[in-house]
Amino acid sequence: MTRPALVAAERRPTRQIHIGDVAIGGGAPISVQSMTTTKTADVDATLSQIYALAAAGADIVRCTCNEQEAAEGLAHIIPRSPVPIVADIHFHHEMALAALEAGVQGLRLNPGNLRKEAEIKQVAAEARDRGVPIRIGVNAGSLHPELYKRFGGATPEALVESARTELAYFEEVGFDDVKISVKASSVPLMIAAYRLASETFDHPLHLGVTEAGPPPGGLIKGTAGIATLLAEGIGDTIRYSLTADPVEEARAGRQLLEALGLRERKGLDLIACPSCGRAEIDVIGVAREVQQALQERNLPIQVAVMGCVVNGPGEAREADLGIAAGRHRGHLFIKGKIVRVVPEAEMVDALVHEAERLVAEGIEARLAAADAGAEAEAEADRRALFEAKGADANQAGQKVELIRRTVADG
Ligand code: SF4
Repeated sequence: MTRPALVAAERRPTRQIHIGDVAIGGGAPISVQSMTTTKTADVDATLSQIYALAAAGADIVRCTCNEQEAAEGLAHIIPRSPVPIVADIHFHHEMALAALEAGVQGLRLNPGNLRKEAEIKQVAAEARDRGVPIRIGVNAGSLHPELYKRFGGATPEALVESARTELAYFEEVGFDDVKISVKASSVPLMIAAYRLASETFDHPLHLGVTEAGPPPGGLIKGTAGIATLLAEGIGDTIRYSLTADPVEEARAGRQLLEALGLRERKGLDLIACPSCGRAEIDVIGVAREVQQALQERNLPIQVAVMGCVVNGPGEAREADLGIAAGRHRGHLFIKGKIVRVVPEAEMVDALVHEAERLVAEGIEARLAAADAGAEAEAEADRRALFEAKGADANQAGQKVELIRRTVADG
């Protein structure tokens, strides 16, 4: 199906790293990440969440490695995971070493709470020897106290300095297989920090608004921060941090990239009009039904549900497929061209059926299979509705007469 052009500015060039088989930076497609909420030691529960995250669009999944049992769990999870696994490390450098031993494809270290230079270097040297990249995951909420004091708070400069210090330790042991994040829960702070980081480093950047909270507020904050930076060409991999089922994070990440034209569409893109006084059907209800039916079938298609035939097909003419309601009938259209007129009760079924055939056969074939006379039937409906709705509801005739008289008398 037709895809829109990229909306982002030219992407900032970065070096490339690999988390397992997923390339990050250096022009690679922007990847989506999420994090499990299960105990990593619970192998079955964690694997089942990883599969759900991968199905929802996650390219990489992070699991906490906070205790020995978690590292042992990782050893069982990694070979069975459909996507590369990153171990999240705070406080205990020996957990990073254990995670490397378990075979993780990436590490995330928080420089704010893993502070001993010798331990950091030991982890970096081990990662270097095993060819495993590390994310320097700076977080405004857990900034090193010394930096907090020196910069008078968690400023963009302080966050970037934290990453720079860690990077210098890594470089001393000859390790620079690194990506960087400078997250904050404040969107303006996060945006400023990433802009500065993108000027300072050529390492790939992992974007996120941390602790964004539950949806919809968390989604809005995450989107405000991540999308702003992506539109400036900044960012190589993204994660929404939502207080919700992590599947929502993965889905949101994927949908954001698809909406920006930065990843190929994998699933449904549903366009629906907001409805208005012209609507001939319950647009919200029909849109929900269509979404459910098409999402289950996982069709990579753009579908429009429009509440009326007067404006609907024209407003949604770019959609691959759509339906507009009018006079108790549904007008089914492909790329704005009416191909069938069906009774209102059959609208959703007809749309789903056509969606399946469209994906299987292509747009040209389905346009060629349009019902003869569908356009004329639709036009008759449109005219009848237009006349009915426009049957001088505003008493236009009288008003025009009044206006003319007013102007003449004036
Ligand atoms: S498509 Fe029709 S019902 Fe929907 S918003 Fe536009 S004019 Fe209103």
